[in-house]
Amino acid sequence: MMESRDITVGELYDQFVAPTYGRFPIHPSRGKGVDLWDENGKRFLDFAAGVAVNSLGHAHPALIEVFKNQPSDLIHCSNLYQPRSQGELARVLTDQVVQVPGKCFFTNSGTEANEGLIKLARRFGEVMPSSSGKPRREIISFLGSFHGRSTGAMAVTGQEKIRAGFGPLMEGFVHLPFNDVEAFRNALTEESVAVFMEAVQGEGGIHVATPEFVSAVAQICQERNLLLFFDEVQCGMGRCGDLAGWRCINGVAEIVPDGVSWAKGIGAGFPIGAIWFRDRPAGALSLCDLLGPGSHGATYGGSPLACEIGRVVIDTIVSDNLLRNAAVLGKSIIDQAEHSQMPMISEVRGIGLMVGFQLDVERLEKSTTLQSDGRAISVAVVDAFSEAGLLTVPAGADVVRWLPPLVVCQEDVDKAFGIMEKVLNHLMK
Ligand code: PLP
Repeated sequence: MMESRDITVGELYDQFVAPTYGRFPIHPSRGKGVDLWDENGKRFLDFAAGVAVNSLGHAHPALIEVFKNQPSDLIHCSNLYQPRSQGELARVLTDQVVQVPGKCFFTNSGTEANEGLIKLARRFGEVMPSSSGKPRREIISFLGSFHGRSTGAMAVTGQEKIRAGFGPLMEGFVHLPFNDVEAFRNALTEESVAVFMEAVQGEGGIHVATPEFVSAVAQICQERNLLLFFDEVQCGMGRCGDLAGWRCINGVAEIVPDGVSWAKGIGAGFPIGAIWFRDRPAGALSLCDLLGPGSHGATYGGSPLACEIGRVVIDTIVSDNLLRNAAVLGKSIIDQAEHSQMPMISEVRGIGLMVGFQLDVERLEKSTTLQSDGRAISVAVVDAFSEAGLLTVPAGADVVRWLPPLVVCQEDVDKAFGIMEKVLNHLMK
């Protein structure tokens, strides 16, 4: 590689990297567990975890082992063939994660996974049309949701700021208030075909679906033959304390989805996405066979390396008791937050290791020590935390998220609270 120390990292980005992200001036070079170091050796407590990706923390030995061994056997061989690893991961996702008969398709990201669900919904609407014989094409999602950045996934996303300026987007999407059963019931039409739901909205600011809402939506979907899809890209794979995020919502464990999408934590840093389709009738076929040969594909999806990583990640999450860790620590975080000295935090919400701190924007705007420089308050606060050694993630304009690796421990949590308290108390001045 060309030696380019003649130019700073910041300058490299300014000159050569498209400015699509609002990046913090941090240059990570190494990580271990919950710790991350930058190029100058500064240490950070990483409660961002690559935005809910590094589920096993940095440099987990189980993951390193796969990277050491699998490539010398086989990295990629295409979906023209049947490498065992893809079938094995599909079995784990079906039997252990969803626990309902069905089949899987593999992608490389969450966006791509949701695109697959959109195609499944469209196909289902063709084979199970409305009573007039018209294909059902209307897909419902919720305000505040995030499902990805492709033109299709953006169309499902319930945030105008994500969609704005990229029209005309794909047609046939309706965005309804989250946790509002009546609005949902009233908005359904003859053309409604599927529903996308995050059990815990992540990008939208950590909003947890109420049990009443999830139950009612599931029941109505069943009555009206709509497909119920859970987008588990952020809240799945153990983050909320169970391999299935929706099962963490009180009292809804028995609900059976028709489709599920995953990415982020399933690869723990390697790009893997997946979708699961339920084995249930859909015209002459089963739903899980509706996307037949030639109807969908992804060159890289489900490679032996990706699938071996996915299998080992899930295996490690289960065998290292990380589900229990996420559930127990998650409860204690909410408890601790309620008793901590954090002025300017007006509410703390979440499940497991998906925690949102609602900022008191009015008070923060009056702070003379907060350097907001025209940025959203959440971004300025996250910046202040990272300067003090704690990495967190903004969610919208007024929420700061904790999404630590599932290997995080109580001592790390105490340190993180210590940093937040110190920074927020300083900002009070
Ligand atoms: N769905 C949810 C719930 C997400 O949080 C994200 C990313 O933040 C996506 C989908 C898109 O995933 P990706 O960035 O891997 O395409």
